[in-house]
Amino acid sequence: MALCNYYDGIAQRRSVNYVPKLEELPKIALDTLDTSDPETKLVLFSNNTFRYFRPELEAKLCSLQVFQEHWDTTQVFAYKSVELKDLPEITDLKLISDYGDFRAPFVAKIRSHYGPRGRRNHNGVDLPLKTGEPVYATFDGKVRYSTYNSGGFGNLIIVRHPNGLETWYAHLSRRNVNVNEYVKAGDVIGYGGSTGRSTGPHLHFEVRYCDQTFDPERLFAFEEGELKYQTFALERSFFSIRSRETDQLEEYDDFENIASLKDEDGEEASAEDILAYLSAEEKAKREEEYRKSQELYHTIKRGDMLGTISRKYGVTIDQICRLNNISRNTTLQINKRIRVR
Ligand SMILES: [Zn+2]
Repeated sequence: MALCNYYDGIAQRRSVNYVPKLEELPKIALDTLDTSDPETKLVLFSNNTFRYFRPELEAKLCSLQVFQEHWDTTQVFAYKSVELKDLPEITDLKLISDYGDFRAPFVAKIRSHYGPRGRRNHNGVDLPLKTGEPVYATFDGKVRYSTYNSGGFGNLIIVRHPNGLETWYAHLSRRNVNVNEYVKAGDVIGYGGSTGRSTGPHLHFEVRYCDQTFDPERLFAFEEGELKYQTFALERSFFSIRSRETDQLEEYDDFENIASLKDEDGEEASAEDILAYLSAEEKAKREEEYRKSQELYHTIKRGDMLGTISRKYGVTIDQICRLNNISRNTTLQINKRIRVR
């Protein structure tokens, strides 16, 4: 239930922060179950669906501005009046705060990474899954968009979080939440599938800030199901200039093609098959990624600052601090070698 906005009548009669009592839920609710979290109850409905019910969380998040401004539940892009150039060069995002926890949307090895695909951009990562496997809300937040998207995303859910980040979950077989509902990290918001422009079950997952995409792998280690930082310095240079070019999802990523590469016995494609398939451009990109993943050092020169070094190597300031066990305020010593990767 979108407890803040669901009962328009109630909300108008009382304050906007009014949270309805359990007994005011629709009559079709069959039963309410306790969960291991004392603040969370499950409401079971006659149509075999369930909803989370948590008045405390909703009362806490209801009044935040981030859930009121640029709040559009009908379109994928909600910040059309905000240009890329209007965004600050660096935005510090608290990923973990008193607003809650983290859970990976789905734990898997990425099949298709974020980045350019020919003349277009793959705006998220593709995680292979089986149809029907649960997909989780990554952080606490409010559902901004939940519908079947004819642009190619299929069943798409967009959740906005208290720090302004939005997470996108596409190709779901079923959506378990409606717009204006509040969710907690780890809530099952939907189930994996292959709806929309997709030829095999996978989760297409994006993170956006003011409609702008950046690589979700900057935040998450998907294979481990872990969050990389508590606070993240989101740099404007991370955003793709093609972020808002289209709301048509172009699945020309490798996922479907590799998934459909089968040998004559019907076995899955081998590593060699896949490598043979990949274009030279794609191979070069992967080699570049591999090279980037190797350790790299920088020798401090006069005038160097953490910001300039981080931009030069395309890494975050947090990463440099962590690798060298220094803080953002540490004075850099000329000629000292610091690790950037
Ligand atoms: Zn994708």
